[in-house]
Amino acid sequence: MSIATTEVPAFILNAKHRCDSCSSSRAYVATVLSSSPALPNGGELLFCAHCFRKHAEALLPLLSAIVDETAQLVEHVRDDKHL
Ligand SMILES: [Zn+2]
Repeated sequence: MSIATTEVPAFILNAKHRCDSCSSSRAYVATVLSSSPALPNGGELLFCAHCFRKHAEALLPLLSAIVDETAQLVEHVRDDKHL
């Protein structure tokens, strides 16, 4: 008989990753910019949840990949409620 387990997401961002926009907050969203004439090699930017929401409309058309780990915020809130 097997035991049912809940899959725990493997987060890649931690407290060392800071937002590239405000630089004061922890990053929860990692983005990869598509290459363009202005940015031939593309690039990577990290955002806190607040800054990503603020810039999302302009950013989304420029991105080739996005890692959204804002679910960690929900986990932290959930953990706090148990304290
Ligand atoms: Zn920020």
